[in-house]
Amino acid sequence: MDGKALAASIEEQLKIEVRRMQESGLRPSLATILVGEDPASRVYVKSKHRAAERVGIASKGFELPERVPEGELLALIDALNSDPSVNGILLQMPLPGHLREHRMIERIKPEKDVDGLTTANAGKLVHGVTDLVPCTPRGVMELLHHYGVPIRSARAVVINRSTLVGKPLHHLLLGEDATVTVCHSKSTDLPSMTRDADILVTAVGRRPGFIVTADMVKEGAAVIDVAMNRSDGKLVGDVDFEGVSKKAGYITPVLGGVGPMTVVMLMQNTLIAAGTQNRAVQQEMRQ
Ligand code: NAP
Repeated sequence: MDGKALAASIEEQLKIEVRRMQESGLRPSLATILVGEDPASRVYVKSKHRAAERVGIASKGFELPERVPEGELLALIDALNSDPSVNGILLQMPLPGHLREHRMIERIKPEKDVDGLTTANAGKLVHGVTDLVPCTPRGVMELLHHYGVPIRSARAVVINRSTLVGKPLHHLLLGEDATVTVCHSKSTDLPSMTRDADILVTAVGRRPGFIVTADMVKEGAAVIDVAMNRSDGKLVGDVDFEGVSKKAGYITPVLGGVGPMTVVMLMQNTLIAAGTQNRAVQQEMRQ
């Protein structure tokens, strides 16, 4: 499954949408907040700004030092919340340990929460409302749709239960009538579950060595590797690509798989947020 090519074709559609918005006087915009010096986070934020530029979304980057007090980060979020020229706010994760992630995320106005991580947006997803959905799970679903992987009645196994990946993906798959099993670090006998999976998504990314090997995969399954581990300076995923690709019907590479889809879904969410905010302003003006 070529996430790079699919992301590029979605970008082309988004460019057209941005042009249409600009013709009606709206320039969608995204603000990113990067706290600290984590090199991987810096790379991810940079790639989001580059994508915004390609699509025609205005983007501003804000950087705060590693030891920034919570109050200062909250003040920046407040300022961006009340700035009408900002449609989307992305707080790059992970945050340094002294910052309470959930508290920081909750401060973002739900209508500007383009990562879909606030309780309000997570709750909407549980109720089947899918406007601002976390970008990585949204990207995984797009890959499955694009490659025509049957989802209804399929058995899906997701190895991850984070609020960023596993939990929202569980709801998206369930919403399309898959039977979903969510696994995590306390799950026992992972292979007995993964061997039954028509769709297998893994996002562990924590240890050297593979989480998913060929003997754990059903013949013809769709295998999606979200994880990104650094090993000897190389980027590797959870899946033994070499072995699993011989057995899987579909498989994502670590590079050019889910990563570009995450970025393009952020662009899509920014346009959704801009559209919603614009409609709200117009409605207010009419009243
Ligand atoms: P996370 O919060 O650390 O989640 C990791 C998950 O893996 C947890 O649910 C954890 O279980 C589970 N886990 C850990 N060890 C396990 C084991 N031995 N067997 C089964 N499950 C195990 O991380 P995250 O933020 O969700 O990200 C996960 C990975 O995806 C990372 O490599 C990250 O870089 C990557 N990622 C990639 C993209 C992209 O765009 N490609 C986007 C987001 C994330 P517990 O809940 O029990 O701890």
